Amino acid sequence: MEKKQLDWSNLGFGYIQTDVRFVSNYKDGAWDDGAIVTDANIVLNECAGVFQYAQTIFEGLKAYTTEDGHIVCFRPDLNASRMADSARRLEMPAFPEDRFVDAVVQVVRENAAYVPPFGSGATLYIRPYMMGTNPVIGVKPADEYMFRIFVTPVGPYFKGGAKPLTIKVSDFDRAAPNGTGHIKAGLNYAMSLHAIVTAHEEGYAENMYLDPRTRTKVEETGGANFIFITKDNRLVTPKSNSILPSITRRSLVYVAKHYLDMEVEEREVLLEEVKDFAECGLCGTAAVISPVGKIVDHGSEICLPSGMDEMGPVTKKLYDTLTGIQMGRMEAPEGWIKTIL
Ligand SMILES: *Cc1c(COP(=O)(O)O)cnc(C)c1O
Repeated sequence: MEKKQLDWSNLGFGYIQTDVRFVSNYKDGAWDDGAIVTDANIVLNECAGVFQYAQTIFEGLKAYTTEDGHIVCFRPDLNASRMADSARRLEMPAFPEDRFVDAVVQVVRENAAYVPPFGSGATLYIRPYMMGTNPVIGVKPADEYMFRIFVTPVGPYFKGGAKPLTIKVSDFDRAAPNGTGHIKAGLNYAMSLHAIVTAHEEGYAENMYLDPRTRTKVEETGGANFIFITKDNRLVTPKSNSILPSITRRSLVYVAKHYLDMEVEEREVLLEEVKDFAECGLCGTAAVISPVGKIVDHGSEICLPSGMDEMGPVTKKLYDTLTGIQMGRMEAPEGWIKTIL
């Protein structure tokens, strides 16, 4: 297989159209067999459920080349089950989890020429998504759905190393109590756009959202979960039913316990106690961990002792261990690495 001629180490985080994608349609109560197709465009009726009432969900994961030249992806079974959870919450039919993983494998294999080579820092981002496709005008779930997966090569999240971020405590909420914060739905992102544009205009990289009921507890950012490191080397991560269950965060918790012999606390985290932590990081598929150096709460600054120059030492150890597992430098727990080619 010959690789495409792309400037792998200078790719940004944008959409590059590849040769093929996967599509399966749901009609009369069943998913069809699905197929690999070349057309990147979708033609739908003007009244499709997705356009009128935002009945759409998505996932995100990456395929990449390991040191020994294999193309792999990381824990796709967890994306499959999380997408099934998202589907149930929005009254959509879940795409069968085993077929989800098969479709990921198929679409990456067929686009192998777009998987960045080892050492470039770039990866192939995989975007599964699903939407209501038939006309819906009265408010109700659609009867017909489309499940698709496209892939796009993306550059390293941080060019020239991960510099600690400055973030702000947001006055907006990202999720309602008992709402949809725990599922990966486009609607959670539509309503976060104003908050993130505002934060960027004010010079902040991200928003720290608080719990919508009491506004005293840390939830997450628009697209990444928090981890904190205490001064005595414990990992603390917020627990709430309106946080999106990040696969990166769940993997880091496992790594902390089983590889680094750290104590882990998954619990409510008060904003008030953040000033006592030694390190803070944001975790998600795109960057694995982005260090946070400063949190601004309406003019009062919380400066993490790890500072603004580099990732804190414990965060770094977590980062190195998880990326070591992903890249095949360290032994992975059973089932974490799915070999594609
Ligand atoms: C996708 C997402 C994350 C990160 O999840 P990963 O599975 O680690 O990529 C965190 N928060 C939100 C709101 C998300 O949508």
